[in-house]
Amino acid sequence: MKKLMFALCLIFLMALSVTAGAEDMLSVYLDESSTASFTGENGLTFYNAATGQWLYTAAPGETVTVTAHDWGFSAGEKFNSGAEMLSVISVYQAPISWNGHKYRGYFRLDRQGGSFNIVNFVHMDNYLYSVLGREMSESFPQEALKAQAICAKNFALGERNRHGSYDLCATTHCQVYTGVDAESYSTVCAVAAVSGQAAYYGGKIVPLYFFATSGGCTEDIKNVWGSDIPYLKSVPDPYESPARATNWGWSTVMTAAEIENKLESKGIYIGSLLNIHAGEIAPTGRITALTFNGTDGSHTVYREQCRSILGLNSQWFWLEPGYNGNGELIFTISGRGWGHGVGMSQWGAYGMAEQGYSYVDILTHYFTGIYVN
Ligand SMILES: [Zn+2]
Repeated sequence: MKKLMFALCLIFLMALSVTAGAEDMLSVYLDESSTASFTGENGLTFYNAATGQWLYTAAPGETVTVTAHDWGFSAGEKFNSGAEMLSVISVYQAPISWNGHKYRGYFRLDRQGGSFNIVNFVHMDNYLYSVLGREMSESFPQEALKAQAICAKNFALGERNRHGSYDLCATTHCQVYTGVDAESYSTVCAVAAVSGQAAYYGGKIVPLYFFATSGGCTEDIKNVWGSDIPYLKSVPDPYESPARATNWGWSTVMTAAEIENKLESKGIYIGSLLNIHAGEIAPTGRITALTFNGTDGSHTVYREQCRSILGLNSQWFWLEPGYNGNGELIFTISGRGWGHGVGMSQWGAYGMAEQGYSYVDILTHYFTGIYVN
């Protein structure tokens, strides 16, 4: 028994030293709950995370359901502890099932009264195995996946500590992270290939934005979000295949009444819509000022609102007024691209990879003046 305890302590200390020493360990907040179940295929050990006191070792495949109370944690007949924090560590680093979903790394439960925060401590690359599968199809070429992996890594490195005591959350607020379920052979290979690398501008790790389809060229960030950022300028994008890239070209028809409803849902009242005027157009073709003229007034929106106010695929579009069979005023809206248009086009990355370009070529094409190291 003493030997077993020594071995377990050693595993625990190894886990602690990894947490303290390695900068590439992330703490990801998953959920708040008063109860949670854990299973490990090689077994699990439970500790008081503050004192290191051993509490329980579960056999391979054994499920342990932990419940929080005002006084501490309980797990049925298995253990009771007054701990503020509990760590759940897998034997031989096998993934841990939390409520039926597998995660790499280990868990910590931070208790406040009768509930706890569920936090997954995971190595950067293991985190990216999962995140990459949520951001780009696993069927994309390796070089495109590697470029996307760097985008996700730069985000995680640049935005850690967003949540006070934790680095990131697991939703779209940060990046969607669902553990092993979202991993695939191709995402794991791509992440492994760029392990330890990130993208820099002027010596700093910078956020890298991306979107699905540019429609032929990307956009300067100042025409979308208003800020002026030197590495987020418009670049030509001849690499997308119009036939394959989603929404490379698109078209939709809206009646004047539908557009009035969209404006009203945003608190804008102009009476009956008479016409729509694109007041400013960027050199790329994207509209940066759009005016709605009505019987009771006018309203102008700018930059990305030109797209979002009508719920369009992109900011690059043109309008053709006309009348439908019922004599109602309609607008045929035709456009190019899908997404905000700032940074890397995912379908462009696909095309570049197919033409033999590397992930560094892809990133340095879409992000002016950055370097990968
Ligand atoms: Zn977040």
